[in-house]
Amino acid sequence: MIAYFDNSATTKPCKEAVAAMTEALTECWGNPSSLHRLGVEAHRRVEAARLGVAKALGAEPDRVFFTSCGTEADNWAVFSAAQKLGKRGRHIITTQIEHHAILHPMHELEARGFEVTYLAPEADGTVTAEALRSALRPDTILVSVMMVNNEVGSVMPIQAMAKLTHRLAPNALFHTDAVQGFLKVPFRASTLEADLISVSSHKVHGPKGAGALWIRKGLSLPPYLHGGGQESSQRSGTEAVPNLLGFGAACEAALPSLRADLAKEAMLRDRLRTGLQEIHGVVLNGAQAAPHIVSFGVPGVRSQGLINCLQDQEVYVSAGSACAKGHRSHVLQAMNLSSAVIDGSVRASLSRFTTEAEVDALLHAVREAVQRLT
Ligand code: PLP
Repeated sequence: MIAYFDNSATTKPCKEAVAAMTEALTECWGNPSSLHRLGVEAHRRVEAARLGVAKALGAEPDRVFFTSCGTEADNWAVFSAAQKLGKRGRHIITTQIEHHAILHPMHELEARGFEVTYLAPEADGTVTAEALRSALRPDTILVSVMMVNNEVGSVMPIQAMAKLTHRLAPNALFHTDAVQGFLKVPFRASTLEADLISVSSHKVHGPKGAGALWIRKGLSLPPYLHGGGQESSQRSGTEAVPNLLGFGAACEAALPSLRADLAKEAMLRDRLRTGLQEIHGVVLNGAQAAPHIVSFGVPGVRSQGLINCLQDQEVYVSAGSACAKGHRSHVLQAMNLSSAVIDGSVRASLSRFTTEAEVDALLHAVREAVQRLT
């Protein structure tokens, strides 16, 4: 049995997504911009997929703009907000624990003359609304705070932060990278008070190659890609129809049992946490408030050694975040954890497909690995 605990890196596409993609590739392969029957049908299905994503977001479909991934949605939000508002102010706020899809655009904006404040997390990896309050200024034009941290599962108070931003920095737009929060921490785009929300398909059992940026009604951003006018001229480029249909189908498939699935995931996360705490030498990192992320380590043991040992038993976890291959975790560093803890930490991330048997296999494999490596 394979025990897959790298769902924050990517999830297995659900059967509904695979079926929708197969149909798109074999039967509905027209260009949605074409005016003949094949094109019209592809267009109809892309709009149905948009509706599926919008329902999962709690949003109007005409405010959901498809992208190629979460990274693109993040880049679009950050660069377009800076372009739109750069004449009104030059101050931007984000956090030290964002994904590189936010941090690297921020570094680029610094190079272009913006001043960026990076909020520090508490010891448990949560960034508080209080920390944001003290950083907001009248010349702040953008605040970008992730909803759920991808390494330690801390959940940020996004609604409170968005409200604070609008009160204390009226010129500013509020963006949240909800890639790890979407369909994990229930929210509705229409009531979250954010201006911009990024999500990604392959984290929610859809295919890789699709994401979306939700843009608040009434807010116009500079277009991200210029060309044939797709995505209401906001993001040109022929639609990746199979990916978008897979994304839509994954969202539709998740909704009917969402609450029960999240409760089950949280229960398995707690079973895992309790089991890990009983293993001598294992430490847990951070808040782990989201239902699907458990960060833990064995100080003194290198995380790659632990990953290899677990892999020998067909148990798959990742070192920190999969996207930061080989680099020391900036998130664990920002939480002021010791080098021994940081270098020995791994992340186990669950999905609605995770089973009790997989959790037990992981615990068994960790027990054996700790014996072997310490
Ligand atoms: N933001 C967060 C919090 C993530 O965890 C990830 C991926 O791990 C991304 C953004 C990037 O998403 P994508 O892989 O769709 O580009």
